[in-house]
Amino acid sequence: MKRSQDKPQILLDHHLKALKLPVFLRERQKMAAQCATEKAEYAEFLLRLSEQELLERERKGTERRIKTARFPAPKSLDDFDFLAAPSVNKKQVLELARCEWIDKRENLIFIGNPGTGKTHLAAALGLAACQRGYKTRFFTATGLINALVEARNEKSLLRLQGQLAKLPLLIVDELGYVPFSKTGAELLFEILSQRYERGSVIVTSNLPFEEWTSVLESERLTGALLDRLTHRVHILPIEEESYRVAQSKGRRRKRAVKTNGKEEDITLTNSAN
Ligand code: ADP
Ligand code: MG
Repeated sequence: MKRSQDKPQILLDHHLKALKLPVFLRERQKMAAQCATEKAEYAEFLLRLSEQELLERERKGTERRIKTARFPAPKSLDDFDFLAAPSVNKKQVLELARCEWIDKRENLIFIGNPGTGKTHLAAALGLAACQRGYKTRFFTATGLINALVEARNEKSLLRLQGQLAKLPLLIVDELGYVPFSKTGAELLFEILSQRYERGSVIVTSNLPFEEWTSVLESERLTGALLDRLTHRVHILPIEEESYRVAQSKGRRRKRAVKTNGKEEDITLTNSAN
């Protein structure tokens, strides 16, 4: 007798597992008891379970996207101090965090001196994209070129190019610190060309556009790359000094006030960075 009663339960659990509905599987008995106590209708029971299932699926999807994006550090817009970066238009950045530019396949370029928050903002906008359901991948320019060269050597370049082309958002950080080899520059150009009007890119650079030739070597290639990248683009120049230098100046000033009782200006050495 007991066995025939158990059978539907066992089958149900099996089917829920096969259908990949872990929340239904885990919560159905508890929810059934709760709905019985509340005299909630059957549709209500299903609605509550499906809502929980959906929420968990979204949460897990976001977690997975953030993990595969490989951000260098977990930075968000909440921990970006806009008061310390007056040249960054807060309203514009918050608007960009809504990701409509990704739907329109536009690009984003941050240009500014080292330490001004370019990587922070690029990662934070990437995080916002992951949270809104866009698959994202973060690379340094050198890291991306190394991955492309390695893939080419292992004859898997097409596969990597295909994977990158499918991403709605690709982040290329730190263009400008290290000059690329001719092959490296060409591979990078190819990736960015393939994305043209098909997917969005965030590029950060410490160099103004006029100086990009110094890392890409060829003027022709730089021209062609800028032509594609800047066709539909939001350019965000950051004009402050390094955030860390500014912070360190602030701390030293506070210390000086404490010891002398009055504020003194303190000259910083480069080691503060
Ligand atoms: P960049 O990429 O321009 O060289 P980063 O984004 O790496 O600069 O910033 C250097 C450090 O300073 C990071 O830890 C970053 O989180 C922090 N930082 C920079 N600007 C700000 C800011 N306005 N508010 C909070 N943290 C900032
Ligand atoms: Mg950086």
